[in-house]
Amino acid sequence: MTLSVNQDRLWQALLDMAAVGATLEGGSNRPALSAADAEARALLLSWCEPLGLKMERDGIGNLFLRRAGQAQRPAVAFGSHLDTVPTGGRFDGAFGVLAGLEALRTLHDAGVATAAPLELVVWTNEEGSRFPPAMMGSRVHAGDLPLDRALTTTDDAGETVGEALAETFQIGFLTPGPRDWAAWIEPHIEQGPVLEQAGAAVGIVTGTVEARYFHLTVTGEASHAGATAMAGRRDSLAAAAEMILATEQIGLSSEPGGRSSAAWIGNAPNVRGAVPSLTRLHCDMRHEDPARVDVMEAAARIAWTAIAARRGVQLEVDAYASFGPVQFDPGLGALLREAAAARQLPVRDMVAAAGHDSVLIAPLCPSAMLFVPSRGGVTHHPTEYTAPEHLAGGAQVLLDAVMRLAN
Ligand SMILES: [Zn+2]
Repeated sequence: MTLSVNQDRLWQALLDMAAVGATLEGGSNRPALSAADAEARALLLSWCEPLGLKMERDGIGNLFLRRAGQAQRPAVAFGSHLDTVPTGGRFDGAFGVLAGLEALRTLHDAGVATAAPLELVVWTNEEGSRFPPAMMGSRVHAGDLPLDRALTTTDDAGETVGEALAETFQIGFLTPGPRDWAAWIEPHIEQGPVLEQAGAAVGIVTGTVEARYFHLTVTGEASHAGATAMAGRRDSLAAAAEMILATEQIGLSSEPGGRSSAAWIGNAPNVRGAVPSLTRLHCDMRHEDPARVDVMEAAARIAWTAIAARRGVQLEVDAYASFGPVQFDPGLGALLREAAAARQLPVRDMVAAAGHDSVLIAPLCPSAMLFVPSRGGVTHHPTEYTAPEHLAGGAQVLLDAVMRLAN
């Protein structure tokens, strides 16, 4: 039996979801465990209501929506996340969740049962832009991050994850941990230009790069910007500026497979007229070849340390998180490739450069990701766009693969 997803319904669901936390620039702003994030989840649950799903939630707020199967078998699971970065677009994360919803709606409308149960998943705090690290919900689920450490993580305003979970009524009763899943599939927008340039409609993600995340704390000495001679200064912000450029240089010299960024800065006292004394940076580096990440990290540490020494500031480097490299399940990849080909969708294999919840799920059960094209490769930006037919194509491949796996 072949069932077809409803392109218009999927597109409308994405637009309706994007209206939650909508920004003037046309994107979405739903930081993890904010009121907007909770509203997005409530909207999803209202859409799930007529589908007769069983909802469960765990202690880090991950949502599991289960459609019963005809047999006692491990479930086929799929989904993504609904939180966004503050400058988010309409499709990152939301597409994976709503493609899963569209698959369930299509099955429901057709009155089709599957042998295995199906499970739609919404992971908590994938982005990590409010509460680091990224992929927090799936990390706790996979045992990569202890629940108590996640719950005591604070945002820039000093609010903890535990407080934000309670405030938004997202704490569930389940103890986070692996579930009985036969397979996991995450549909996602590509967030790069590869599929568009290749003229492909679907990307089969074979694996991910290795990525490492660092907090740098640079401590100098506060003093009067007028009265302190240049020679006597220990300016933490000026030192951090050099560290930012050194970080960029390491990425530049590691292309084509390597990337590095200093993407966040905190500065104190951050007062006009005072020499800065405490500057914090968030840096990351990644490469397809894990050995090259070692080289990048070593080069960064040498450069950062030399800058700190020359400028007489103290430097603390906290390598607080990492992910990958991950190889996704080849059999599941082949199944997705076949499903795309059967729908005459041009398909291409690729490696993901961004982190995704699937990285954490891959060691737990056979896992795969499928990408759809991002116009111009632009994401984490209000102009993020994927054409409705590409979104529907991805949802169709998901549905076809899920039906194969669940029967
Ligand atoms: Zn995402």
